[in-house]
Amino acid sequence: MYLLACLGVFLAAYLANAIMITVFYHRGLAHRAVTLRPWARKLAIHTGIWFTGLDPKGWACMHRRHHAYSDTERDPHSPVHLGMWGVLFGQLKAYERTLVGLARGESEFTRQVEDLDFPINWVNRKRVWYLPYLLHLGIALVIAVPTGMWTLAAAYYFGIMSHPVEGWIVNTLGHAVGGRNFETADDSRNNHLAAWLVFGEGYQNNHHRYATSAKFSYQPREVDLGYGLCLLLEKLAVLDICRDTLIPSPDLLSDVQTQDAAVESAQAA
Ligand SMILES: [Zn+2]
Ligand SMILES: [Zn+2]
Repeated sequence: MYLLACLGVFLAAYLANAIMITVFYHRGLAHRAVTLRPWARKLAIHTGIWFTGLDPKGWACMHRRHHAYSDTERDPHSPVHLGMWGVLFGQLKAYERTLVGLARGESEFTRQVEDLDFPINWVNRKRVWYLPYLLHLGIALVIAVPTGMWTLAAAYYFGIMSHPVEGWIVNTLGHAVGGRNFETADDSRNNHLAAWLVFGEGYQNNHHRYATSAKFSYQPREVDLGYGLCLLLEKLAVLDICRDTLIPSPDLLSDVQTQDAAVESAQAA
């Protein structure tokens, strides 16, 4: 029963972290694939770092650079250049470099996020980036010290602070292992394991082809739990999904391709 409670706490903390990153930061702030309601946008901007340890502007900037330079030498975390294990530390170094670049107003970084009308969070401006980590460590100790439930405390801490591992899973598997539905200039892949573990984020090939789609899955066998969260949060009036930019269904796309092929062959004739 105790281990079941630990698993429940881990999953709840992991879900809180994942909702903030995949829905609010990624699909909301970075790509505008969903429009956050004003209060929800403020919540992400001001409290996101306390849930995740990650700066919303810093994260969005690094992520947009990943899309702009995907799998080239300028990509912040490409397994093609860093290797699978190299991404684990490479992504942390790139994130730190992004925050420094934004703080110094370096155009290479600021031009990526000109539309984001808020600064990097004060904990990064004041160079006390570790405060969110200490907060969660404090909560874990409050759980563990009086009760002796250290496993429960660890489940909480590693669930809520799971972003380095989540990021590593997506950034490596999603750019090195798996099939491709679309021809893209990068090496993006669709990895089912990464998608199940990180709420649809493993469908990097679909996502790089249709970056402004709130839905990352394409084939019927692909499941994007993150899009499920978006649908739920839309019902709860937290956000609105941009339906104009949704990834097309395979049927629709094959119709378009058939029509394109017919036009091309008619032109060639
Ligand atoms: Zn990618
Ligand atoms: Zn993206």
